[in-house]
Amino acid sequence: MKSENVKDRINLASPHMSDEGYEMQYIKEAFDTNWIAPLGENVNEFERELALKVGSKSAAALTSGTAAIHLALKAVGVGEGDVVFCPTLTFSATANPIIYQNATPVFIDSDFETWNMSPKALEEAFDLYPDVKAVIVVHLYGLSADIDKIMDLCKKQNVAIIEDAAESLGTYYKGQHTGTFGDYGIFSFNGNKIITTSGGGMLVSNNEEGIAKARFWATQSRDQARHYQHSELGFNYRMSNVVAGIGRGQLKVLSERVAKKNSIYEFYRRELSELEGVEFMPNNKWDLPNYWLSCMTLTGNIRPIDIMEALEKENIESRPVWKPMHMQPFYEKYDFVGGGASEKLFEDGVCLPSDTKMTDGDLERVVRIIKGLWKD
Ligand SMILES: *Cc1c(COP(=O)(O)O)cnc(C)c1O
Repeated sequence: MKSENVKDRINLASPHMSDEGYEMQYIKEAFDTNWIAPLGENVNEFERELALKVGSKSAAALTSGTAAIHLALKAVGVGEGDVVFCPTLTFSATANPIIYQNATPVFIDSDFETWNMSPKALEEAFDLYPDVKAVIVVHLYGLSADIDKIMDLCKKQNVAIIEDAAESLGTYYKGQHTGTFGDYGIFSFNGNKIITTSGGGMLVSNNEEGIAKARFWATQSRDQARHYQHSELGFNYRMSNVVAGIGRGQLKVLSERVAKKNSIYEFYRRELSELEGVEFMPNNKWDLPNYWLSCMTLTGNIRPIDIMEALEKENIESRPVWKPMHMQPFYEKYDFVGGGASEKLFEDGVCLPSDTKMTDGDLERVVRIIKGLWKD
């Protein structure tokens, strides 16, 4: 018999397959028909089902979210020497494909109201770089950026928008799914995301021709000919039929996962928001987040490192907020527009364990440890 072990591991966010075993059913179908690779029914259906879920006309299933950003940049015509605006407060995977295209990132600050791209900093950046080719907007931690304001500015400037919704599958801005506002949107099914295929990504757009072109690039840019002929540089970026089967199963439990993430966030907020110096991530009226990670900032005597160390001692995972790109050794030579918001969020922010497998007991354990720091 297993007694309650207080040292049981609690993860930040880990893969959570459906209780019903949907994923295995789709994988089994792929095996039974020997449709292991390359493409097949699961890929086609996963694309169709995801596009339907988010309300986009078409989708291309790819090997990763990073690959999807790369092809989105190609699709909007970003090439050598072009300037691309990118939020500084994000995971490096948002920015790296700009470099793959030999383009130049300019990093844009966040604001405290959204934690995402500051429309004010974006406006300043347009003055400095009127010839910018594309803007990548990120919906960090499942919080939507203030997309209307950002879209207005981009439209005035006539510049393409790519939405990095890797962390925001299940998030709605004014009733519309994030990732479907821009010219292209991307999702990630990496292991720690709200649903996972073990690894994978999706490119979505209402531009069906653009998506068809992305599929062409993703399968080595094979021209229509009996022999192998290539008029363009190709990539091996297509999702496999087995992996897509996991995705189809996971999509069925997305709303359950969002509900659980929401209850985790509500629990932390109820229990911790009264503590001296604690402030939770923003809750804007137009935003219906997926609460991928529950995050807060600390401006009192207790610092993020105190929480992370106290939890780590009890075998519980937590994390700092993303370190801004303009502070990264690889990216610090590129321009940055804005003030100190993203640096402050990085200094003061902590991501709490937000694993959908957490029990009520696990949540109480986390809260008890954190509250303990205020009692010493
Ligand atoms: C996870 C993530 C990505 C990359 O997705 P992969 O599927 O891991 O390549 C891109 N942007 C953000 C903001 C992410 O969190």
